[in-house]
Amino acid sequence: MGRAFVYVILGGGVAAGYAALEFTKRGVPPGELCIISEEPVAPYERPALSKGFLLPESPARLPSFHTCVGANEERLTPKWYKEHGIELVLGTRVKSVDVRRKKLLTATGETISYKILLIATGARALKLEEFGLNGSEAENVCYLRDLADANGLVNAMQSCAGGNAVVIGGGYIGMECAASLAINKINVTMVFPEVHCMARLFTPKIASYYEEYYQSKGIKFTKGTVLSSFEFDSNGKVTAVNLRDGSCLPADLVVVGIGIRPNTSLFEGQLTLEKGGIKVNGKLQTSIDSVYAVGDVAVFPVKLFGETRRLEHVDLARKSAKHAVAAIMEPEKSGEFDYLPFFYSRVFGLSWQFYGDNVGEAVHFGDFSGTTFGAYWISKGHLIGSFLEGGTKEEYEAIATATRLKPLVEDLVELEQQGLNFALTV
Ligand code: FAD
Ligand code: NDP
Repeated sequence: MGRAFVYVILGGGVAAGYAALEFTKRGVPPGELCIISEEPVAPYERPALSKGFLLPESPARLPSFHTCVGANEERLTPKWYKEHGIELVLGTRVKSVDVRRKKLLTATGETISYKILLIATGARALKLEEFGLNGSEAENVCYLRDLADANGLVNAMQSCAGGNAVVIGGGYIGMECAASLAINKINVTMVFPEVHCMARLFTPKIASYYEEYYQSKGIKFTKGTVLSSFEFDSNGKVTAVNLRDGSCLPADLVVVGIGIRPNTSLFEGQLTLEKGGIKVNGKLQTSIDSVYAVGDVAVFPVKLFGETRRLEHVDLARKSAKHAVAAIMEPEKSGEFDYLPFFYSRVFGLSWQFYGDNVGEAVHFGDFSGTTFGAYWISKGHLIGSFLEGGTKEEYEAIATATRLKPLVEDLVELEQQGLNFALTV
């Protein structure tokens, strides 16, 4: 038994939603497109899960954050997919793919064939067990990747009001969840191995601003160490966290954000993989012509840097999906994907944006004791990355434009003095 479609999107996350919208904009007829997703709901804006979804007052709930509201576009509810003749196969895991025969097999035993496959399988959260630790199954140990995780975290937060939470990991999930927990009046300690938070992006100076801000909200930091084991009660709930430095933190709730792994396993041995993801060209096309890959799972050429990268951010998921659909539907017209990396976060009343790459020398500017400050990264004499906290729409646009231009910077002291004006006048 099986069904056949012209286009199949494998995965039902951010990239899938934006791809579906683009397919309809380009006139794909009803009945030709199918989305298969392990998640039980239509594509939604995943960033909401660590922000609005966790708020104590008027939290965000579906259907309010289905894609594509995050880019101020249409909100695609299940009804929208129906009206556009797009088959949404939800709550269904794809078990295997045969890219030569152009067929997928679902966990429910259905075979689905396609002419063009768009891989949008995203990534999974790394588990503590992968570092040789146990405890992920305890009901008060939470990860955050999908809606089910977010519901679990909300329940766990509600049953530990005023209690103690330990957040493992100082990356995006750690920072955003720690803020949300504090807003929910839970005592938070963040634990991570690096010397400061967001070590892969922030300079020590930028990190210390956020750490001080977090401390002013009552959040504590235990840096330079990792979890060594959990203490459990007789019901299997975690009661405390033992750290490798010998200390022990009481815990009513543990949130783990220690990175992700792209979901590539269906394609191992079938497609070219690189840097942990699926390698694509400037058209987002894999090593097999009829298969495209986008979002967290794709390793694509970043023209601006002259090298391939895998990026784990929502803007890339949206734009790569759009570009891949253009390349599929109008191959002769669509050029090479020319992407400016863009990351952002919002916590408490803070909000930052970053464009480009953070290699080379960092030049800080602005008022680090106030609300607006930033940094530029200069490599081989050119500005290649920009960070700004507390900017206006125009200022963020200016740093984005400046970064894309990669202007020559001869005098770093002058750049520091010019600060934001450099980007505004470049
Ligand atoms: P995903 O959105 O992860 O979607 C993958 C989909 O594929 C899922 O539906 C999954 O169930 C499905 N799938 C996987 N394997 C199979 C299979 N075998 N069969 C069927 N279905 C399958 N980025 C930012 O830039 N800013 C933010 O503020 C931000 N906040 C975030 C907050 C959270 C809590 C998380 C988890 C991520 C956040 N991100 C943020 C990152 C951003 O959400 C991701 O980069 C983006 O979701 C990637 O989109 P994607 O479509 O590639 O993958
Ligand atoms: P990150 O890669 O951002 O951070 C993981 C953090 O965990 C790092 O500080 C890492 O340190 C640390 N770590 C690794 N192993 C251990 C360990 N054994 N014990 C303690 N700490 C450890 O991943 P996240 O889990 O925070 O985020 C998951 C995904 O969600 C990412 O793709 C991210 O982009 C996305 N996301 C993005 C957001 C945004 O863009 N605003 C918001 C929320 C999520 P080290 O660097 O040394 O490995």
